[in-house]
Parts: sequence; C-alpha cells; structure tokens
Amino acid sequence: MKNTFTFDQPDKDGFFGEYGGSYIPEQLQEIMDDITASYLDIRRDPDFISELTDLYTHFVGRPSPIFHAKNLSAKYGADIYLKREDLNHTGAHKINHCLGEALLAKKMGKKKLIAETGAGQHGVALATAAALVGLECDIYMGEVDIKKEHPNVVRMQILGATVIPATHGRKTLKEAVDAAFEGYLKDPINQLYAIGSVVGPHPFPMMVRDFQSIVGNEAKVQFQEMTSALPDNIVACVGGGSNAIGIFSAFLDDTDVKLHGVEPSGHGLEQDGEHAASITKGSPGVMHGFKSYMLQDQEGEPMEVYSVASGLDYPSVGPQHSYLKDIGRVSYSTVGDAEAIDAFFELSRLEGIIPAIESAHAIAHALKLASSGENGSILVNLSGRGDKDIDFVVENYGSDYGVANTL
Ligand SMILES: *Cc1c(COP(=O)(O)O)cnc(C)c1O
Repeated sequence: MKNTFTFDQPDKDGFFGEYGGSYIPEQLQEIMDDITASYLDIRRDPDFISELTDLYTHFVGRPSPIFHAKNLSAKYGADIYLKREDLNHTGAHKINHCLGEALLAKKMGKKKLIAETGAGQHGVALATAAALVGLECDIYMGEVDIKKEHPNVVRMQILGATVIPATHGRKTLKEAVDAAFEGYLKDPINQLYAIGSVVGPHPFPMMVRDFQSIVGNEAKVQFQEMTSALPDNIVACVGGGSNAIGIFSAFLDDTDVKLHGVEPSGHGLEQDGEHAASITKGSPGVMHGFKSYMLQDQEGEPMEVYSVASGLDYPSVGPQHSYLKDIGRVSYSTVGDAEAIDAFFELSRLEGIIPAIESAHAIAHALKLASSGENGSILVNLSGRGDKDIDFVVENYGSDYGVANTL
C-alpha cells in the first residue's frame, strides 16, 4: 500500500478553516518553517517514500488486517469489523508516525528525538524508531503515568531512551508536554520534537495525519475486498486524534460513510477536571502552539483533564477534528471509564482480543451504535493492544469481572 499524501488541507499556514496554524515564539517559528520545508520536500521524494513503505511492511508488519468480529456482531446485532492496529510492532498505531518523524529528523541532520508520552505508547514507539534509525531519544512522562504504565517505562529504557519525569500539577500528559517543550527550547537545532499526535504547531497536524493515513488507505481497499462495499460507519477514539484522522482521512469524501469520533468522559461530563472531552465540552482557543477546541478556564489556561485511558487525557484536540466537527462531517460523542472497562472485557471474552483502554472507548461506542438499532456495518479502528493495561485493570476493576488480583 502506497502513501498518497494528497490532501487539500491544511492551507500553507497550517490552517484547517480557522483551526491549527502556528502560535509560537518567533525564534521557534524559523525552526518550524525549516521542518515544514524539509517535510514538504521529502514527502515527494521517492527514496523517502520507499524507505518508509519498506519499514511499514518489514518492520511494523503492515498491512494490519481487518477482522470481522462475528461473536460481537451476533450479540449486538450489527456487523462489527476491527482494523487491527494492535498487531503492529510496539502494539499501537503510533509507530506509523514515529517512523516518519524519525526518518525526517535523520534526513534533517538532527541528533536527538524528544517527545512527551501519556500511556507510554508514543514513548515506546519513538524510542523504537530512534533505535532503528540511530538517534538519541529523551522521553518526558508524567510521574503518575510512570507508575501506572511501568512496563512501557522499562521498555523505553531497554531501547536506549532516557525517561524524564514531569513532577508538577497532575503529573500526567499535559505536564509532560510542558516539560518536553522546555527541554526542546534548550536546543531546537539538534533536537526534533516528535509530537505524538495530530496536535501542536504547523506542520505537525498535517505531517502526523499524512503518516497515519496509511491506516485509512489500507482499510478502504481491504474492506471493499471483504464486503464489496464501503463501511457504513467508522469509529475511532480521540485523544489528540491521530488514529481517528488516520482512518477517517481516506473516507472524508465518501459522504455515505458515517464517521464517529469518541472522546473520554471519564467520571462524567458534569464536573470540570473529571473528563477530557475537548470537542464535546470545550471551546475554541490556543494552547501548545495551535488553535482548536480546548478545555479552558476563565483565563484561557488549559483545564485539568482526566480519563482512565492515559493516552486520551489531553485538554485539546487536533485542529482538523475541530474543523470536521464544525462542518458536521464527523460526529463526536463520549464514552466514560465504566463503559470503556466493560468493553475491554467484552472484546477480550467474546473475541480473544485484549484492547488498549483507549481503543476500548471506540469499541464501547460501536456496541452502543449496534444496540441502538444501527444495522449497517461498523468498522472500528482498534488503535492498540491492552498488554500495557492489564495490571492496572485487574487491580482497579478485576473483582467486578471475576478476576482475582492474586491467586
Ligand atoms: C495514544 C493512543 C491513543 C490516543 O491518541 P490519538 O492521537 O488520539 O490516536 C489511542 N489509542 C492508543 C492505543 C494509544 O496508544
């Protein structure tokens, strides 16, 4: 499957409608312009495209299959299919853009990749790409997430990366972004900040979207081969929005295909700080260098956010999602902690697939769609596998599902 990279958005300043752009200090703007120019150059370079395509095939294991989840389908009354990004090397979709960013950094002569990570998935994927391509790697991670996602921390260290804890505020993803940004400012010439989703200043929302578009491009061909039709619905969870835009991008012009983005409502939408539903409950504003829907307080500062899924607790969202919300092309809804954990066990026990808690949000929404009378097909982007989550889930929810913490 070839990358096509032919999208008419964003405009040359990185705007999707009124969202996106680049709201950063002037000295950084020069660096960003340099990254943009280099990227626009290499994305047309046949050598770069074949190098990346080769790694997708032989290193990541692409194409990832689509699986018809017949047991779930029978129980819930609609045909449910899974795009198996959980089967990728390193266990999630993030390797797709990390390899692209690492190759770009290498071509630009950078020495070090740096990034923030929430669940640790982006950190592991980036540390993997750095090891493969031959770059140093610093990963910034909230102290709370370091405890919760311990296996991923060890993985990053084995891969040769340095894990740097963020110790302020809630000590989760937002604080990790702040710390990584500080680290980046110390040496933006030799480091590339490999942003972990379709967020941040231009060109990152475009670039990460392009790298993730392989998911949708593959899915479109595979689904038609399997069923002789396009899916009626596509469902993906939305943290920053990269796995969602990755699968949506190939179908944006197919207006018969309903697109569903699922945000985390955590403990509930009523209380600030208890969810991370940036599109559903947020308003347009600027943070982390770009304009988008965001959860903000009176002063326009990012609000605290929460979700049981570390990879989803981010107070803003990729700017293209804000645009797609406003034009009504994607419908965004929410799934809470309890529903996600239910779906985590449901998929594990009916299909033998343990999903990442992030991806379980998308599964939960698909089950709701099916239960509420949707009888068209539903394709879920299963963004990652749940190995990283099993200890946390059993400790906190195991007794409700008949799983003893210790035997
Ligand atoms: C990081 C992560 C997400 C959320 O990130 P997006 O950019 O919204 O895709 C979702 N699922 C998994 C498995 C992740 O690791």
